[in-house]
Amino acid sequence: MGVMNDRLNEGGQPLRALPSVDEILSVDGTQDLIAKRGRRAVVEMVRVLLAEKREELAGTPSTARGSNGITRTVLLEELVVKLQQIAETEHRSGVRRVINATGVVIHTNLGRAPLSAAATEAMAAAAGYSTIEYNLDKGRRGPRGARTVNLLKQLTAAEDALVVNNCASAALLVLSVFATGREVTVSRGELVEIGGDFRIPDILSASGATLREVGTTNRTHLHDYENAMNDRTAMVLKVHPSNFRITGFTTSPATKDLAELAHRHAIPLCEDAGSGAIFDLAGLGLKNEPVISELIEAGADIVIFSGDKLLGGPQSGIVVGRAEYISRLRKAPYFRAFRVDKAITAGLEATLEAHLRGTAESEIPVLKMLSISTDELEKRSKTFLKRLNAAIGEKATLKADIQTGRSAVGGGAAPDSDIRTTLISLSHSQLSEAELEERLRSTATPVIARIEDGRVLIDLRTVAESEEEELLEAISKLS
Ligand SMILES: *Cc1c(COP(=O)(O)O)cnc(C)c1O
Repeated sequence: MGVMNDRLNEGGQPLRALPSVDEILSVDGTQDLIAKRGRRAVVEMVRVLLAEKREELAGTPSTARGSNGITRTVLLEELVVKLQQIAETEHRSGVRRVINATGVVIHTNLGRAPLSAAATEAMAAAAGYSTIEYNLDKGRRGPRGARTVNLLKQLTAAEDALVVNNCASAALLVLSVFATGREVTVSRGELVEIGGDFRIPDILSASGATLREVGTTNRTHLHDYENAMNDRTAMVLKVHPSNFRITGFTTSPATKDLAELAHRHAIPLCEDAGSGAIFDLAGLGLKNEPVISELIEAGADIVIFSGDKLLGGPQSGIVVGRAEYISRLRKAPYFRAFRVDKAITAGLEATLEAHLRGTAESEIPVLKMLSISTDELEKRSKTFLKRLNAAIGEKATLKADIQTGRSAVGGGAAPDSDIRTTLISLSHSQLSEAELEERLRSTATPVIARIEDGRVLIDLRTVAESEEEELLEAISKLS
């Protein structure tokens, strides 16, 4: 092709050597891409690519490349390769499965809680037609997500429950129904920001409620709340400082005392538990996660928490509490706006069933990962290292070793948890740690690792055993 104008430097017009859109589209490689992505998307990519190349060539003097200048064929090849790269980058910008080797169990950027097998299956099954809002026994419309509500009541000892998109929408729903145009009392030590875009003061102002700050950053007493009470006070809000700890000279009233105070003034106490826990997680090294049923027993009228943190379910926000309050929330237009879809409801239901069965620690990935013992993880890491070293061989440029360190819970949960772990550390004689980490991210199934003290670290705590083979292969390819 392009015999007449094949040489860029002939005739002094490099632009004339540029292949046409149709020429690029007719190449086999491009045809494969069209089969995968559709003609429209590929044509658009080709146009952008050609525009860029045209600009580049316009700035290139025709004589710059000498007598054996680039031919039209070479240019075509170059453009087709670039096209594949653009397509790959576009594909990678979508939601892709990754191997989380960071050791951060609830990694917000990596989708928080990985779902249990049962939850995953339930979500796939609900993707078609399902009984989301249908009573099978009566053969007619039923309450939406009825089973989920029942499970939540049993697991939290609350009178009633409802589910919305996330804990942020739960907070906005509660505040807008009970406190618009009135005051909400919050301790200065609890005016938290979580994950950069959830801030208690902002949610309060969005709901139309007025924030009444009490106490100080480190110490707030019951009488601080008491002194702030007036006839505009609509609610006391207690917020679990999920992602940080103020330690040392600190105090804040217990839920029980705040509930008594709120009830004396005939207003509700709402507690934002953040992650919260269905059962006490102290045994897993998480000593400060409030147990939802204990908050309810202590007198909290409304408790809100996330479904995709330590509960281990899909993204959702759960509200449990007194029947009269939940029923008012259910009637609010915001509830309709924030409700969850059939797949989320099915996944959450399956997750809650595991909690009720008492099999959460062995079935729900976040709890399973947190419950792996230090010894067990050390054993797994040593076996993995042995296999990795066998795969990369003696004289490899890649070196793998073992060291001890810590895993993090993450996701705005349990900031002071202290989970000892064994890590695989990687170093490379020709790549910097940043380059090595980047290479791991570029493999077929991207591996997300962390860098610490000049080393790339792999924490098997967050790697499923079923992913080990893939991980081994990805790492050994870098040697
Ligand atoms: C994580 C968290 C939130 C936000 O929850 P989302 O489900 O991400 O909206 C709110 N409050 C607290 C205390 C949290 O820890």
